[in-house]
Amino acid sequence: MIKRSAAEKMLLILSAFAVITISPFVFLRWQEGDLVMAFIDATLVLVTSAFFFFVYRTRKVNTAKLILACFFTIAIVTIVAIRGQSHLFWLYPCMIAFYYILPARPAGIICFIAIVLIGTILSATANTVELLTIVFTLFLTALFSYVIFSNYSKTNKQLALLASIDPLTSSGNRRALDKQLERILADQDRATSKVSLLLLDLDHFKKINDNYGHANGDIVLIELVELIQKYTRSLDDLYRYGGEEFIILPLKVDLQEAKQVAEKLRALINETTFADNIPVTVSIGVAQYRQGESAEAWISRADAALYVAKDTGRNRVVTETPIESFTNEKSSMSFDI
Ligand code: GH3
Ligand code: MG
Ligand code: MG
Repeated sequence: MIKRSAAEKMLLILSAFAVITISPFVFLRWQEGDLVMAFIDATLVLVTSAFFFFVYRTRKVNTAKLILACFFTIAIVTIVAIRGQSHLFWLYPCMIAFYYILPARPAGIICFIAIVLIGTILSATANTVELLTIVFTLFLTALFSYVIFSNYSKTNKQLALLASIDPLTSSGNRRALDKQLERILADQDRATSKVSLLLLDLDHFKKINDNYGHANGDIVLIELVELIQKYTRSLDDLYRYGGEEFIILPLKVDLQEAKQVAEKLRALINETTFADNIPVTVSIGVAQYRQGESAEAWISRADAALYVAKDTGRNRVVTETPIESFTNEKSSMSFDI
């Protein structure tokens, strides 16, 4: 079962709704004997249905949105040119919808072109007051839509950011991690490249809290995240997985290379002091993704490696040895310390 994004669902609903609302007009126009309008409305229904199936099959949402907006603009301008200004009213809700589905810039450009075309077409038939009223009301609708929707998208972006970061350390939170894992797994099913993750846990952090105070423990976490973010390449993201556990991914390397990255990071943390001279060490479990496994299974293999690192003295990196090198072993889990 495909999980569709909110944008995809919205486009599918909008286009289905447009087909349902325009369809009766084909019949009405045809009954009235207005075959030209019946033909235009039928074309609208057909193209919108084709659009619905395009989104449904290809899932190319951004292209689809732009095509939809351009198509509706051309259709309305054509109808106004053929049948006059009473058909213009469709442009008002459409302009608002363009701002809803597109970024402000392309929506603004499409609305501007539509207003200029409509103004030019109606200048031949409408009197000056009518023409100015139409152009100004269209312009104000576009302007208000711009103000409302740019505010709305700014607020949405801020909320999305707040919902995805850990408030203490500003690393990604569990929610962001789950989303990232979903993306990686979806890509990984198609890609042949290797991808690994590091699961990092502070050693004896409870003692750090006990000895230096909880507030200093917090500072350690904040400074540690800053250090890791400086160290890891910008392609790799850092997520707070639990209290003092972090996940770094996606390391687009195999297990051995990921181990080297982890080893350098462990050594760097070992050499650094935090929150006014508090020494900190970390243990790291490393696991490479195996085709077809779930995110939970991947993390739990890193967790098993981390457990071994803790069990064998801490301040060390343990990788789960890849399954291919253990084809003769009974167990698929083995560790390389
Ligand atoms: P180990 O080496 O086995 O990982 O030992 P540990 O003490 O690090 O692990 P344990 O799971 O026993 O304790 C984790 C501690 O992390 C306990 C908890 O108070 C502390 N902790 C979790 N979240 C925070 C936080 O946000 N701030 C601070 N200061 N401490 C936290
Ligand atoms: Mg710990
Ligand atoms: Mg822990």
